[in-house]
Amino acid sequence: MAKEPIVILGGGVGGLAAGWFLARTDRYDVTVVERAPVIGGLCGTFEHNGFRLDYGPHKMYSVIPGVLDEMRQLLDGRLIEHRKRHRIFLRGHALDYPLQMGNLAKVLGPAQFLRLGLGYAMAMLKGVFGRSTPASYAEYVIQRFGRQVYELVFEPLAWKVWGDPAVLHPDMARTRIPSSGATELILNLLGLKKKSAETDATYFYYPKNGFGELPQAMADEIIAHGGRILVNARINGFETQGDNNHHVSGVSVTVDGDTRSLPCHTLVSSLPLPVLGEFVFGDRDPELIRAASSLKFRHLILVYLFVRKPNVLEDHWIFFPEREFLFSRIFEQKVLSPSMGPADRTVLCCDFTCSAGDDIWTSTDDQLVARCIEGLVTMGSIRAEDVEGHLVKRSQNFYPVYDLTYTENMKNVSRRLQSVDNLLTTGRIGMYNYNNSDHCVDMGRFIADGLSRGESTTTIWKNLEQRVSAYRIVD
Ligand SMILES: Cc1cc2nc3c(=O)[nH]c(=O)nc-3n(C[C@H](O)[C@H](O)[C@H](O)COP(=O)(O)OP(=O)(O)OC[C@H]3O[C@@H](n4cnc5c(N)ncnc54)[C@H](O)[C@@H]3O)c2cc1C
Repeated sequence: MAKEPIVILGGGVGGLAAGWFLARTDRYDVTVVERAPVIGGLCGTFEHNGFRLDYGPHKMYSVIPGVLDEMRQLLDGRLIEHRKRHRIFLRGHALDYPLQMGNLAKVLGPAQFLRLGLGYAMAMLKGVFGRSTPASYAEYVIQRFGRQVYELVFEPLAWKVWGDPAVLHPDMARTRIPSSGATELILNLLGLKKKSAETDATYFYYPKNGFGELPQAMADEIIAHGGRILVNARINGFETQGDNNHHVSGVSVTVDGDTRSLPCHTLVSSLPLPVLGEFVFGDRDPELIRAASSLKFRHLILVYLFVRKPNVLEDHWIFFPEREFLFSRIFEQKVLSPSMGPADRTVLCCDFTCSAGDDIWTSTDDQLVARCIEGLVTMGSIRAEDVEGHLVKRSQNFYPVYDLTYTENMKNVSRRLQSVDNLLTTGRIGMYNYNNSDHCVDMGRFIADGLSRGESTTTIWKNLEQRVSAYRIVD
């Protein structure tokens, strides 16, 4: 029986995971279309200055049943298991993360620690007697941890990563802070509730030659099952049928100057929603384009500093909520896998987010590098003269920012796109969902299972939306 052609837009982990699960059913003829010269998107690994480097710290872990097993089988024999070592830098000290009250006692004066403890206790009591529905990220965190902990850690960290926490949707906190807060902590301490792997992972995996081994292995599987990956591919437009573009029958692409039409039974997109909306409806649906363009993103900046030392950190990564540091996190590539660089030198990566046109985005690379070095010298991890080179990578529109109107905008966007009878979206950008690679794997598996069972794309899309809303990032 002839295989059904499926076109997948975007060769990041979102698109490739869908391609991997679809191709291995041997029922679908999969073609992945990637604009860049290489696959992997932000889960890729690249080479620079004798090092193999990731786009920020990536660990492999999942609490979704079966997903970690799938990734481990795919990378059989190529994974390093790590006992997690994360810390948070506060008041000049690197403390264990997630935070413990005992650690905070070390760095706060007795008066401030008492206030913080009272705030925590109040939050706990309120949790026992039931909470009102929070209207924002700020309210969500204050209800669970108390105002003092919010002001010390979560408020400055939120400002750095997403912007003003008072106008962020509570879903932003639900996704990013899986702990239920003070009540859960006290129940843990009293032994009345077990710590859950869903809130705090004690271990994780990392591929020996970089996180990019994950998307590469997916691509290899797609090819092994008769599929193809087109890189350097420009999408010219969709071929559609029906009165109002209700069916996409093909995708026109140009690869190395050669233009061709890819027939498609089903189209799976991991592209940004405004881009997808334009391909489907052109300028005939201004309401869709308005809603899609109202979904906010932050840009990502990564500053890599090449250091004349064999090693600097013990931790896998360290968070920096305080405003005096430009970056919100640092990591050292060789701590994840020593084979990622030469023995006598190392590389530290500082990651932070910003908005288009703000002071950070408009700073020159040299200015950003100088501020990162200054921060690392302040925390005592390096001397300025240890730095022998740098690299700055900027990635636009990667961090979804759930503002107070995002659910309404998403409803409008997905309702319009679901009117196309053979279209599905996936991935972090494609679903406008703050997720990790394991969630992308789960989405790919869910799509392949649904299509194999003969479900309509509308049914799969609606069920996927529900599933995705429950995803949490586990630190
Ligand atoms: C700093 C940082 C730390 C992270 N840490 C972790 C972690 O510890 N663990 C974890 O599992 N995940 C982590 N993640 C998240 C993970 O990187 C994402 O979940 C994943 O990369 C999302 O994949 P995606 O395919 O949806 O998007 P992307 O990786 O952005 O891929 C989208 C692809 O589509 C392509 N594309 C865009 N437009 C077009 C077009 N018009 N035509 C063709 N192709 C196009 C792009 O070139 C890109 O290759 C982290 C991310 C960051 C930034």
